Amino acid sequence: MTVKKHDSVNEAHTVVSNVVSHKLRSLPSVSRLLASPEIRQLGENVPQTVLVQVIRHVLQRWREALQAQPERPAPNDADIVQEVIEEAQHRMRPSLCKAINATGVILHTGLGRARLADEAVEALLTVARGHCTLEIDRASGHRGSRQDHVRSLLCELTGAEDAYVVNNCAGAVFLAVTALAMGREVVLSRGELVEIGGGFRMPDIVQASGAVLVEVGTTNRTRLSDYVQAVSERTGLILRCRPSNFAIIGFTETVPLEDLVALGDSRGIPVMDDQGSGALLSLVKGKSTVLDSVKAGASVITASGDKLLGGPQAGLILGKRRYIEPIARHPLARALRVDKLTLAALEATLRLYRDREQALQAIPTLRYFCRSMPEITRLAKRLYRGLQRVLPRERFRLELRRDYSEIGGGSLPEERLDTLCVALRGADGGLSAEIIAKRLRLAPTPIFTRVQDDWVLFDPRTLEAEEIKTIADAVRVLL
Ligand SMILES: *Cc1c(COP(=O)(O)O)cnc(C)c1O
Repeated sequence: MTVKKHDSVNEAHTVVSNVVSHKLRSLPSVSRLLASPEIRQLGENVPQTVLVQVIRHVLQRWREALQAQPERPAPNDADIVQEVIEEAQHRMRPSLCKAINATGVILHTGLGRARLADEAVEALLTVARGHCTLEIDRASGHRGSRQDHVRSLLCELTGAEDAYVVNNCAGAVFLAVTALAMGREVVLSRGELVEIGGGFRMPDIVQASGAVLVEVGTTNRTRLSDYVQAVSERTGLILRCRPSNFAIIGFTETVPLEDLVALGDSRGIPVMDDQGSGALLSLVKGKSTVLDSVKAGASVITASGDKLLGGPQAGLILGKRRYIEPIARHPLARALRVDKLTLAALEATLRLYRDREQALQAIPTLRYFCRSMPEITRLAKRLYRGLQRVLPRERFRLELRRDYSEIGGGSLPEERLDTLCVALRGADGGLSAEIIAKRLRLAPTPIFTRVQDDWVLFDPRTLEAEEIKTIADAVRVLL
């Protein structure tokens, strides 16, 4: 009995595997596909090596599918050719491409944070296209320092004695803590044991720098006396970290930077302020800028290049010469070296700050932040009319709706900016907001929106006029 049962199972298995192997044998060969007219035409724009890889990939996918689901019918050549064309076109498109930010989040880390000023883009292109004076002294012809291009500008704009620029602010913090406090204690308030994002946590950074963290105070209140008790001859650094991506409100107390500086000065301990946002202009009352930190006398200040400063990704280290020098000489500084494209864009951005009005106009981050309600309304109405023209009325609902934009990028989390959005949804039983938003993201130039209560919101705060036309064109094709 058992033997028989075993045989019938085996038999069934054999029948299935015969069917599958028949289907597998019916799949076209690579050379047959390469010879098909559609793929030969595709070959005019797609290199042969890519075509062969794509064909092998598509055939392998079918082999696996047929083995996993024996009841599935074998594809015909036309199906496979179509898949090869789609896959090849997908592979030929650049992965990192322009996106349209209709989210209203000015500094959207996922969308590349700060949009550069035209002046910064020009400078970057010039340096990218040719050789440049990156590390050369023109008078002597000898090797110079790449830091020279931004050091004096940073000092001029902030009042700092010295400056050093690295790849990003996380790197700047790591480098500064390592250079100033390795093997010693770093005093930090419990209200500032923050995670900046992407797993960048202050306590981990201190530990990775080879320093020992000494926590003082509580989550909501830390007093000067807490710092006084914690500092000793083992202290290498008093660290202040701006809680830039959250706010503690209510029963709170923090120590003014000036008081920490006075304590540090009296004990010969440097005080570092991780300012984060890199704001050079005062945009919000009561929110401190890099200049305020310099004025307060911080030994070292670290700040990001691509947050409120509105420049390229970079980490700015500013402060007193006697502390910046050991930072610049530390071996880690070389590992975090800033590149020439960044320096070009950063120098051009900083130059705009010599004139406040010019900076507010030319730097998109600042321009979007300051955008007036009449201007936003004008853009919203233009987008509304553009969408109204291309969307069939019976399938979609469209309206203008007041809402709030965000600064994002871990800057000024309590600030909400009034805005007017264009709100879109499918008519009852039509497309859901999630589906509309997904189609927009997958457009040739991807469009990113906010989805809220099953409406897709386009926030014009972060859009340029020409992008409004692009959105209307894309929506016509997609929906
Ligand atoms: C954003 C931020 C950082 C990290 O800056 P990146 O330039 O993104 O590396 C560090 N510290 C603070 C306080 C920040 O807000």
